[in-house]
Amino acid sequence: MGSRRPPPRQTDDDLAGAIHNAVMPGGKRIALLKTMLTSACERNCAYCAFRQGRDFRRATFFPDELSRLFIQLHQRGIAEGIFLSSGIAGGSPCTQDRLIATAEILRQRCGFRGYIHLKIMPGAERDQIRAAMRLADRVSVNLEAPNTERLARLAPLKVVAEELLQRLRWIEEIRRETPDRWPSSTTQFVVGAAGESDVELLTTTEFLHRQVGLARAYFSRFTPVPDTPLEAHPPTPPLREHRLYQSSFLLRDYGFDVEELPFDGEGNLPLDSDPKLAWARRHLVHAPVEVNTADRRDLLRVPGIGPTGAERVLRERRRGRLRDLSELRKLGIVAQRAAPFVLLDGHRPAHQLPLWPVY
Ligand code: SF4
Repeated sequence: MGSRRPPPRQTDDDLAGAIHNAVMPGGKRIALLKTMLTSACERNCAYCAFRQGRDFRRATFFPDELSRLFIQLHQRGIAEGIFLSSGIAGGSPCTQDRLIATAEILRQRCGFRGYIHLKIMPGAERDQIRAAMRLADRVSVNLEAPNTERLARLAPLKVVAEELLQRLRWIEEIRRETPDRWPSSTTQFVVGAAGESDVELLTTTEFLHRQVGLARAYFSRFTPVPDTPLEAHPPTPPLREHRLYQSSFLLRDYGFDVEELPFDGEGNLPLDSDPKLAWARRHLVHAPVEVNTADRRDLLRVPGIGPTGAERVLRERRRGRLRDLSELRKLGIVAQRAAPFVLLDGHRPAHQLPLWPVY
């Protein structure tokens, strides 16, 4: 019998290419290692490069191996945090156990106190979710599609309600059971692969913000992968992804409802204009907002005024009336963008019309 050559030993340099510059909750940027415990998977999601039966060389880490490699990257100053996911191998609970084991080694054996984002597998058990939440700064359950019908086109073995949404509900229930420092939760949608409209995606996003305390939804535009059932499906334009992010922030941080967003007859957002600007052009040009008396909600409707700007306006108004665009500028407001939609002490401010559309 010939001797079997051992698989090549992975080094931390093998992982260094998976470092991303990521924005954390709160706005800080860190170098984040995004990796999977295994690229083997027993499922067959139609869009996915890691689906079962696709012919490519798979890689698998043991929990202690991946922890050691990450800590080496961390000690070299290359990675500050880790985003850990996995293909499903040996069932969801076993896969989830290995993700939890990796995070446990990092926290307990290696003493790592930095950022850990753990993926919750479809079908993970409630106790596993609690264990993951004790270790992570953020957990995520990827819905991939906005409803059962759309998901069936992408991932025949995944079930929105039982497998995925129920996990997000448990996360929220665990957070409410005991006051503790629990992690935030997120989800991700694949955009443009299942024929879904923007209104479907954003209706589900709004539901998740309100019903299960979702911190944010990520929108990942579909890009076809060779040797998958969707390899001939057209890619989704980057601008669609951008408009969905802008709109989801309007829902989460600006008090907008889905019905207020400027969808076309097909339920999609216009690609050629910022959704807040489109809303303001319809509603504020003839009914501008008086900056000196408007409440926070109305200030947030004005293009160029964000949550921080609105707070600063409310604070500044206690000292005296705001009369000039330059005063708004000093508060960090994009004054030229706000100008067509506001009154300053009863007067429309003078402003130049933009020469090109503002995105
Ligand atoms: S379960 Fe995840 S890794 Fe597996 S095929 Fe589906 S999307 Fe890909």
